[in-house]
Amino acid sequence: MSENCIFCKIANGQIPSEFVYESDNVVVFNDINPQAPTHLLVVPRVHVESLKELKDTALMSELLIAVQEATKKLDISDYRTVINTGKGVGQEVFHLHIHVMAGREFSWPAG
Ligand code: 5GP
Ligand code: ZN
Repeated sequence: MSENCIFCKIANGQIPSEFVYESDNVVVFNDINPQAPTHLLVVPRVHVESLKELKDTALMSELLIAVQEATKKLDISDYRTVINTGKGVGQEVFHLHIHVMAGREFSWPAG
């Protein structure tokens, strides 16, 4: 738990939030500023600043399993996952999260 970390507060229940999915170590909730009709954030309960600091391979698995379970629950078959790592590519919240977006067209590699 890191003080003044918004995702620590959400993931540990200090800020009441609705979870689309949760497991022992991971929660999934809606992004406050959605960039697609469905925009989920998959977040470890433990404070990890970014992907660079993620050493726990069991937690890595659990994060991806949470992506699978949350999308299955919402009946979403096609989705884009994004992990921003570092200010230079737009990471704003320094508590690791996987964006899961669905329900619109995406271009690749840009956009
Ligand atoms: P980043 O740019 O760090 O990859 O993404 C941070 C994401 O967190 C943004 O999409 C932003 O809308 C979302 N976000 C920031 N603060 C909150 C919050 O208090 N609640 C929720 N649900 N999402 C948040
Ligand atoms: Zn945190």
